[in-house]
Amino acid sequence: MRLLEGKTLSAEILAALPPRIDAVKARLGRPPSLAIINYFADSPSAVYVKRKIAACEKLGITVRLYDPSLQEGYPAFKRLLAQLGADAGCDAIMVERPLPDGFETLETWDALPAAKDVDGLSSLNMGRLFIAKKFSEIEGGAYFVPCTALAVVRLLKFYTCDISGKNVAVVGRSAVVGRPLAHMLTTLDATVTLCHTRTKDLASIFKASDLVITAVGKAKWLKKELLPEGATVIDVGTNFDENGKMCGDADFENLKETAAALTPVPGGVGPVTLACLLEAVVKAAELAEKPEKREIILT
Ligand code: NAP
Repeated sequence: MRLLEGKTLSAEILAALPPRIDAVKARLGRPPSLAIINYFADSPSAVYVKRKIAACEKLGITVRLYDPSLQEGYPAFKRLLAQLGADAGCDAIMVERPLPDGFETLETWDALPAAKDVDGLSSLNMGRLFIAKKFSEIEGGAYFVPCTALAVVRLLKFYTCDISGKNVAVVGRSAVVGRPLAHMLTTLDATVTLCHTRTKDLASIFKASDLVITAVGKAKWLKKELLPEGATVIDVGTNFDENGKMCGDADFENLKETAAALTPVPGGVGPVTLACLLEAVVKAAELAEKPEKREIILT
């Protein structure tokens, strides 16, 4: 079984950032800056929040963590988004999910100025992504796309996995992962089947797929019994098992005998997502120093 680990690619992406950060510092007189909003200290994403802060500090990116109290409710969340949106010293805003019930609305995502929305969730950024016909437009555009979806494509390209003309099953249709990922893969000429809780007979769909990507959020649900022999599996899931240990959607021990290639959790998609986020923060700061480009994504 080929282990598709993400640390090497993550290190490669991060290694390209210091000169860009130095250039931002020279022009803006300060380093790029990221604000992270996280409501739940015990969620799987909280583990990555700590890693994001450590990685920012290592690179000299200013990072501020906001952990609002649940009691303050939605109005306080909206005020915080407005405050960060208007703060000229804040280049990038990352809103961690899960959010409290009822917070995940279009109004929320559109409260993020597109130029600071480094996870690409606002209508403007999403619209730009879904209009793009080629992946090069997505990678090179003056807008932002969901980092996890981008990380999956980067990982596939890094390991030279064939995408063009391949049948890919993506399980999970969230706006943050499954749907943008399905679109990105389509721009690379894959034929994508987007699966969810109402999909019938996943095993038949997987059998007809060259690649299976799971972004479901259920610990170890994907077993070898569902997959054809020699499947390639990309595991986006970040969960905790019965012993409180981080694990993916795929049952790694069960699958490693039969899968051709598999991403580990932790150490697969997660580190690449983190690197893509930091790269987006630097891009946001670069756009902040170039008003003509910033206008492109603000209008
Ligand atoms: P989400 O919004 O909860 O969406 C989960 C999706 O999975 C939904 O579309 C749901 O279908 C589908 N689903 C749930 N159970 C299923 C089943 N038994 N069979 C088929 N489909 C099923 O989750 P998300 O935000 O996309 O995140 C998914 C996972 O990725 C989570 O574990 C999250 O922690 C992880 N994640 C990892 C990273 C990273 O960097 N590695 C980043 C972001 C998220 P319905 O639409 O029908 O409900």
